Amino acid sequence: MSGLPRYDVVVLGGGPAGCAAALGLARRGVEGVLVVEAGGYEDERIGESIPPDTRALFDQLGVLEGFLGEDHEPCLGSCSSWGADELGYNDFLFNPNGNGWHLDRRRFDAWMAARARDAGVEVWTRAKFVDRLGADERGVELGLQVGDQGAPTRIRAGFVIDATGQRSRYARRCGAQPRTLDRLVVSSGFFELPDAEISRLFRLTMLEAVEEGWWYLARLPRRRVAVAIATSPALHKASRLDRAQGWLAALATTRHILPKLLEAGASPVTGSLTVCAAPSFVLEPVVDTSSSPTWLAVGDAASCFDPISSQGIYKGLSDGLASAQAVAAHLRGDAEALSTYARGVHERFTGYAQQRAYFYGVEQRWTDSTFWRERGGGSERM
Ligand SMILES: Cc1cc2nc3c(=O)[nH]c(=O)nc-3n(C[C@H](O)[C@H](O)[C@H](O)COP(=O)(O)OP(=O)(O)OC[C@H]3O[C@@H](n4cnc5c(N)ncnc54)[C@H](O)[C@@H]3O)c2cc1C
Repeated sequence: MSGLPRYDVVVLGGGPAGCAAALGLARRGVEGVLVVEAGGYEDERIGESIPPDTRALFDQLGVLEGFLGEDHEPCLGSCSSWGADELGYNDFLFNPNGNGWHLDRRRFDAWMAARARDAGVEVWTRAKFVDRLGADERGVELGLQVGDQGAPTRIRAGFVIDATGQRSRYARRCGAQPRTLDRLVVSSGFFELPDAEISRLFRLTMLEAVEEGWWYLARLPRRRVAVAIATSPALHKASRLDRAQGWLAALATTRHILPKLLEAGASPVTGSLTVCAAPSFVLEPVVDTSSSPTWLAVGDAASCFDPISSQGIYKGLSDGLASAQAVAAHLRGDAEALSTYARGVHERFTGYAQQRAYFYGVEQRWTDSTFWRERGGGSERM
């Protein structure tokens, strides 16, 4: 293993959580930090709305002013038909932090990586973690594929942060397993709005519960909106929601989403249907001090929330900050820092699970629906 490039901390995954962790470490004076990102920040990414409170996290990361200068679209809150046929409104009018944002995710993630670079972090794009090779007292050897041709490359890490998203690539390779609360499948289509004036009418995210799950409509950059249905894997398959015909048939049953699109003169972007998994889980363990060297997981790699919460990016940034504090303290010899971090992730997941059960329990309109019964709504609890 001699002669390999060695980094004190290697962050696998350069999404919001990984970049926040790397930036947080650099701000705490930790040197020799490398981010290994499989993509190149060119592809569209799912997940865009962030709450007003995210402002405080940007401030702690030292990037608030720069973020505000990026001019992401404001998000003024949400309206939802949930537990009732009519729309209820939950806007940010009285939030002391002001509005939230509908992020241009591709631009945001690339911007976060650039901020980490500015702070002294090395960021490799098109570099994919593929395997954990041998480990000794100098660290763990990681097998990567780098560049368009996927050239095999090996590096050594003194500490690993797994920020690879919901597949937790490194942690699961080390034997960690998700404790899963639910599995949803989300099928998203995209629409274009006729002009900027009409786009301004889409500053509230819209949620609509239906018998087989729930829909959301959220604004995207460049006069686009994302329209998505979340349901169980079985219902997704039975209703053929991965096909335009099945998806449009389901959309036609909505009471609010379709009329909103029609009223705005929105036109579908053809061939745009994308399907993704949306599990709810917490990883066991989130930190492994028994393996050498130690690793921890952040963001969706550590715990994944239902997209109904709109908390994924906030959680990723918050984990990034907390993990940076924990890893910096651990490297200075603090024996408790990593377990404090892990406890924080578990406590937050417990709170999330309670809130989620309450939220799904509010929907009582479809007592025969397996989707709602399985999630605590309808007539029976899970
Ligand atoms: C349908 C849907 C809608 C959502 N809507 C919202 C929303 O409105 N608001 C919100 O806050 N959240 C939302 N989310 C959740 C949000 O997208 C995630 O929580 C957030 O992206 C998590 O950030 P992360 O950095 O942990 O992971 P990710 O954003 O998934 O980043 C992981 C990174 O790791 C990289 N990677 C993966 N494997 C490897 C590897 N082997 N080697 C190197 N790099 C690797 C990936 O390329 C990626 O860049 C939604 C999720 C879904 C499914």
